[in-house]
Amino acid sequence: MRKDIMILLNPGPVNLTERVRAALTLPDLCHREREFGELQDEIRRRLLEVYSLPPENWAPVLVSGSGTAAVEAMLVSLVPRDGRLLVIENGVYGARLADIACCHGIAHAVARQAWGTPVELDALARHLDAQPGFTHVAVVQHETTTGRLNDVAAVGRLCRERNIALLVDAVSSFGAEALEFDAWGVTACVASANKCLHGAPGVSFVILRRDALPVGGGGRSVYLDLARHCRAQDARDTAFTPAVPIFYALREALREFEDQGGWRMRHECYRRLAEAVEEGLVRLGVAPFLREGERSVVLRAYHLPDGLDYAALHDGLKQRGFVIYAGQGKLAASIFRVSIMGAVDAADIQRFLDAVAGLLSPARHSGAKAR
Ligand SMILES: *Cc1c(COP(=O)(O)O)cnc(C)c1O
Repeated sequence: MRKDIMILLNPGPVNLTERVRAALTLPDLCHREREFGELQDEIRRRLLEVYSLPPENWAPVLVSGSGTAAVEAMLVSLVPRDGRLLVIENGVYGARLADIACCHGIAHAVARQAWGTPVELDALARHLDAQPGFTHVAVVQHETTTGRLNDVAAVGRLCRERNIALLVDAVSSFGAEALEFDAWGVTACVASANKCLHGAPGVSFVILRRDALPVGGGGRSVYLDLARHCRAQDARDTAFTPAVPIFYALREALREFEDQGGWRMRHECYRRLAEAVEEGLVRLGVAPFLREGERSVVLRAYHLPDGLDYAALHDGLKQRGFVIYAGQGKLAASIFRVSIMGAVDAADIQRFLDAVAGLLSPARHSGAKAR
């Protein structure tokens, strides 16, 4: 049925449903017209509804750009010049938070751990207490590097006890994993259109406590100033030219998201597909990189099978219509990743597993002969 479409098992951009794809070609629209204000309002309202956040306390702020644009906007807008940030790093995206802090001269320290390891809470508490003066902590909820779900609730507890604001990169988990803004003490959280929300790439957003918005000037960036964006968007306007077709697609993706039952249903749907991938791969002798209970439902990392390097696995699968994702950094030589976000179904996964099986048996056969 979908033979012409490459099935994307990378963590975004995702396969779009036909319904969302069709929204990309809605009529050309000037962003200063009433119709754009309505489009933007609906998106902002629906973003808060994903986790039932009341609009009096929470502001969704849209930024045209990929997820990193909103991550950067969050850090440069919310950590004040006299503030101090602690970044938790256990993967590529934690490292990126630290990179951003470096580039903008944000006073910061990095709690650096081996990639893939769980957040060391005792060490984190000691770090926060040894050098008082931290005003903000930044953490990645789902480290897409390894598929690890970091314990944001526990990090939030340590922050709340010390009156420290918690900034969360939830780019690859928003819409598919539990996120308890109030209970966990989240101050701001970033995500983007083209991951678990199943929109097109080009729009990202920050959801933040309204009382965390800086008042007055002194900002570090013009384009990435969340206060400026929020003021304009609250007035149904926009600070700069937005990615209009991508807004259309995000609105449709959010309508579809609601029709399909919201984040709990998406979580359940991902969980079933992720387990099917994992069971199938384990049956083929391919082992998961992380232990059970640590893995997200969105993406899982696997050890590369003996006798098949990443390039051979990737290229063989691509020929058969599937795109997988490489490991990053030091993990590039040892793992591969499979994400099930996007319009992917159980039949796609079955065909994917058949394709992996087809690649593995000749590789193992020739490997055995060589030995
Ligand atoms: C995808 C992703 C980002 C943003 O990456 P972009 O390429 O800018 O979209 C940030 N954080 C995490 C955890 C991600 O998975």
